[in-house]
Amino acid sequence: MGPGLIAFGTDEQRAEFLPGILTGETTWCIGMSEPDAGSDLASLKTSAVRDGDDWVVNGQKIWTSFAAVADYCYLICRTSSEGPPHRGVSEIIVPMELPGIEVRPIKDMTANEHFCEVFFTDVRVPIENLVGVEGDAFKQTMAQLEHERGGIDRLVSNRPLFDRAVAVADGDDPIVRQEIAALEIGYRLGRILVYREALKQAPAGFSAATKCFCTEHEQRVADFAARILGPAATADAELAKAIAYAPGYTIMGGTSNIMRNILGERLLGLPREPRP
Ligand SMILES: Cc1cc2nc3c(=O)[nH]c(=O)nc-3n(C[C@H](O)[C@H](O)[C@H](O)COP(=O)(O)OP(=O)(O)OC[C@H]3O[C@@H](n4cnc5c(N)ncnc54)[C@H](O)[C@@H]3O)c2cc1C
Repeated sequence: MGPGLIAFGTDEQRAEFLPGILTGETTWCIGMSEPDAGSDLASLKTSAVRDGDDWVVNGQKIWTSFAAVADYCYLICRTSSEGPPHRGVSEIIVPMELPGIEVRPIKDMTANEHFCEVFFTDVRVPIENLVGVEGDAFKQTMAQLEHERGGIDRLVSNRPLFDRAVAVADGDDPIVRQEIAALEIGYRLGRILVYREALKQAPAGFSAATKCFCTEHEQRVADFAARILGPAATADAELAKAIAYAPGYTIMGGTSNIMRNILGERLLGLPREPRP
């Protein structure tokens, strides 16, 4: 969200919100996904209607990471239903303490409750909290997702798991040695991909490839660690959680299927997927 505010926010928004993001004093959540709008984000329905000096927000988000502890929600919502679905989308910064917001944490299969349902009922948000262009923010959201998909966090969540598995792996077993080498190469390749994103050397849309590679690598690491650590992993809550959490990596921030669609259409120039 920081890069989104730098690119599309006003000077006042940058001055107000960026310092807290930089120091980690404020926590933000991203209100994008809805029960009927995940991969097909343009079908989102949460609405913001102008009323005097406020936006009045109504609707529901889901899978909103850290919503229960967030100070702000970077909300993607609909300010108009005219035209094609990706038109009429706007971005609004919603302080989470406003009346009318209800957060219900969801327990995932690791028993963690980090993502939530968020319900908005007549939530009044000052108009100056609009980020960028009213009704034309879908491309802002896509640009923000480029940052989300190409960051180093996509690669290294399971590194401690990898190190623990390598520490007890049988280094004399030729197959295990090959696997360790292949995964270490994966870390180095992933790091180069992330550097290319950070240095703006990757072509537009390429963060889809970076995310695919890095998050699928996270899953290969979890699979390797589960096999190497065996039953011992289930006796250690942190290890067991890291292994059970792995399927989420290729879903959050856009699934691998969607990343491959983006690569096919935007980078390889393949025919566009037919829209219903
Ligand atoms: C751990 C975690 C954290 C998350 N945090 C957040 C968050 O903070 N904020 C937020 O807004 N969202 C968050 N999400 C939600 C995430 O962005 C969505 O789950 C994701 O975009 C997929 O949407 P969906 O769950 O509705 O699945 P769907 O879109 O219903 O997809 C279901 C399946 O169909 C496939 N599919 C769908 N359309 C196509 C297509 N056109 N071509 C090929 N395959 C297709 C998908 O790949 C998937 O396998 C999080 C998810 C997870 C797992």
